[in-house]
Amino acid sequence: MPKLSDRVGTFTDSVIRRMTRISDAYDAINLSQGFPDFNPPKPLMDALAQVAYKGPHQYPVTFGAPNFREALAKKVSKTLGRVPDPETEIVVTCGGTEAMMSAVMAVCNPGDKILVFSPFYENYGADAILSGAEPIFIPLVPPTYDFDLSLIEDGFKNGAKAIIICNPSNPCGKVFTREELTAIGELALKYDAFIITDEVYEHLVYEPYTHVSAASLPGLYDNVITCNSLSKTYSITGWRLGYLIAPEPVAEAAKKVHDFLTVGAPSPLQEAALVGLGFPDSYYEGLRELYTEKRKIFLDGLDSIGLRHNVPQGTYFVMVDISDFLELPQFKGITDLEFCEWMIREIGVAAVPGSSFFREEVNNLIRLHFARENSTLEEVIRRLSRMTEMLKG
Ligand code: GLN
Repeated sequence: MPKLSDRVGTFTDSVIRRMTRISDAYDAINLSQGFPDFNPPKPLMDALAQVAYKGPHQYPVTFGAPNFREALAKKVSKTLGRVPDPETEIVVTCGGTEAMMSAVMAVCNPGDKILVFSPFYENYGADAILSGAEPIFIPLVPPTYDFDLSLIEDGFKNGAKAIIICNPSNPCGKVFTREELTAIGELALKYDAFIITDEVYEHLVYEPYTHVSAASLPGLYDNVITCNSLSKTYSITGWRLGYLIAPEPVAEAAKKVHDFLTVGAPSPLQEAALVGLGFPDSYYEGLRELYTEKRKIFLDGLDSIGLRHNVPQGTYFVMVDISDFLELPQFKGITDLEFCEWMIREIGVAAVPGSSFFREEVNNLIRLHFARENSTLEEVIRRLSRMTEMLKG
């Protein structure tokens, strides 16, 4: 057989999405890939039903249907502190995934360096590789997931073109403070670098924390590319609706990448999702309350069976510490991936091995998510308690 490209040999498929496939094969409760098991808001489902007859069914304008971009501009103006120009500053993409890929491709030349926090959402590694960029990792140090600003300055001094910030952070649940973003922003301005933010969990932030969009900080707009999606906000991860907001020259570059990658995000789904973009603030408040309750049920459940975990400030992810299990004779020397496979088979719960998020050697953490019906979360705790029983010997 002829040889494949070297590029595809340099990364694996997504471990997160692989865990979903294994989970499905064993009919486990899937707390690996983050997506809800409940329906989107009814107005979106009603709109989707109507669109089936009303259309559109053909290609949208490649960078997003005009009414969708206008609605987006209005919605994001609250967090951005300005109304981006729907014609020149917004690109509608197939999910946040394509927004991030288009952003990295639009700013990085092969050989450029790009700063990425570790732990990081695994897509960023592939985004860098496919763009030919070299990731430089900045540790977010557990358990608080703080970082050393001087490492970011060193990275920029060494010519890094951009920094990727996932805020709130997948997988560690960190919400970057205004002060942290301002400090990173000052460095980006000083060294003439871009900030690429992934803000798909912006509405899943728990009190007392608040979400700040880097692009809203004074003087920073021209250096920031904001990537986002409707997936988590409206519980429609399968609709693949994402977007990118950036100053005109950057957005124009991203439009070209997007045009040739996917042509456009599905037009019927843009039309159906319009109603969501028009929801009042009370919708987002309700979403936060919903997930605040789920977080409490899940974390209290983990506490009650003695599983150690972090307390996420945002997102619906929790990192659980499995060190105690790795001490047991039957688990001696196994990897976190093997542990997760064992959990799927024997416990009926799917998680993501922490090693797929960390640059550092980490084998004692697994990621679970709580975007599940409360009754499912309670069943998960019952199943996991069979696991913690093993620790009692
Ligand atoms: N963000 C989700 C997760 O980390 C996955 C998103 C995706 O698979 N595109 O689980």
